[in-house]
Amino acid sequence: MTSKRENEFTSWYIDTIQKADLMDYTPVRGCIAFKPDGYEIWEHIQAEMDKRFKETGHRNAYFPMLIPENFFQKEKDHIEGFSPELPWVTEAAGEKLEERLALRPTSETMIGHLYSDWINSYRDLPVLINQWANVFRWEKRTLPFIRTSEFLWQEGHTAHVDEEEAREETMQMLGIYKEVVEDLLAIPVYDGEKTPSERFAGAVDTYSIEAMMQDGKAVQAGTSHYLGTKFAEAFDIKYLTRENKHEYVHTTSWGTSTRLIGSVIMVHGDEQGLVLPPRIAPTQVVLIPVGPWKKNPEIIEKLDAVFAELKAKGIRVRLDDSDQSPGFKFNEWELKGVPVRVELGPRDLAKDQALLKARDEDEKVEVNLNDLVARIEEELTTMQTRLFEKAKAFREKHSHTHVDTLEQLEQHIADSEKNDDIPGWVLAGWCGDDDCESHVQEETKFTTRNIPFNPPATKDTCINCGKDAKHTVWFGRAY
Ligand code: AMP
Ligand code: ZN
Repeated sequence: MTSKRENEFTSWYIDTIQKADLMDYTPVRGCIAFKPDGYEIWEHIQAEMDKRFKETGHRNAYFPMLIPENFFQKEKDHIEGFSPELPWVTEAAGEKLEERLALRPTSETMIGHLYSDWINSYRDLPVLINQWANVFRWEKRTLPFIRTSEFLWQEGHTAHVDEEEAREETMQMLGIYKEVVEDLLAIPVYDGEKTPSERFAGAVDTYSIEAMMQDGKAVQAGTSHYLGTKFAEAFDIKYLTRENKHEYVHTTSWGTSTRLIGSVIMVHGDEQGLVLPPRIAPTQVVLIPVGPWKKNPEIIEKLDAVFAELKAKGIRVRLDDSDQSPGFKFNEWELKGVPVRVELGPRDLAKDQALLKARDEDEKVEVNLNDLVARIEEELTTMQTRLFEKAKAFREKHSHTHVDTLEQLEQHIADSEKNDDIPGWVLAGWCGDDDCESHVQEETKFTTRNIPFNPPATKDTCINCGKDAKHTVWFGRAY
């Protein structure tokens, strides 16, 4: 790697994704091409999410990408939040359109319009639908995967008879996000509620999972919204109750995006490039012949047999018998973040062993050939857990609970700069006043991440004004 991760995290990140061949820039500002290895990471995330959505009774559907302008006018907060970021289609087939069409930033409006038709009685509820799609938000600052103008995501949209059921759904989906991000991506997250200023445009309450990157900045890794009856009122989604009364439905929406790919890279990568958790790695194991292996056909025969055995077990394995030197290959596969590398040369074969190297560990280990497949399988599992534990230890180390006032926060930031450390996040009290929140941001660039459900401590006084705290909040710099 050409850049040190501590010093120039962003250039390290860009370097890493390019050397790993995950994406490419395009002439369209903020819109990236996902190359096969980048896209496959998304496919593994998708597969796991989709499985969990279906297990909890959701079904996939698809809605148009173009949304009539008047739909946005129906929900005041929604248009206010999204209008600065909307790209518009104004002409088609050489003619000006009567009504402009927006490229969807999210689909509450189109779906609200349709649900008002689809939902008539309590028997039609709940509606539990998810969409896999691309969306557009013309962002001012972009960063591949983390914040792009077009991104891929899933958006769940559900409708329920009452608040209780809708709130249960909101929490259930946040719980699924937390599990998938922790189990599959090996990224620990704090789950909690967003402050009103960070709420989704049109939501009653927004909940998020927040992850810490290796530069100490936060990524909002997924959000789940309780929308109350706001969209139901805007789009007239009513149902007939058992008592023959017309009532508005309560709706939810929830989303995760290709931003998760960026988070994985920023959480696990190192000086040698990408480090992928085994469960999402496009290639989980690479087999590399070493030494004068071309003169010794037994080497490739043995590797072919191991390859076949791993493949039969459903493990994503590659055999690199190209003409490059072993050193070149090691470097190449390390840049791509392949979790496990196996080396086999004549000298190893004579000893009936191979060398096994986990991407995140320094040492190679000798493994008897009879145990090789079992050891590879085991390593894939232990590495998955190890990456999670490492990321968690890192997060704990940089999650601070000793800061109670703005002065202390400023001191904490100055100290960490002096020590060439990162400021990470601080847990602090907040009175609930928007002005206090924005003042902290102006002075320190620390924003509220979320109000965690399970804070490691509770705070009594507001970090800014010193009055009684209503909430204990994670503050940090964020992407
Ligand atoms: P939202 O609909 O605003 O709640 O967004 C849902 C999720 O999409 C967020 O939690 C982010 O993880 C992700 N997201 C939002 N904006 C972007 C973007 N510009 N690029 C990539 N992912 C995004
Ligand atoms: Zn305050």
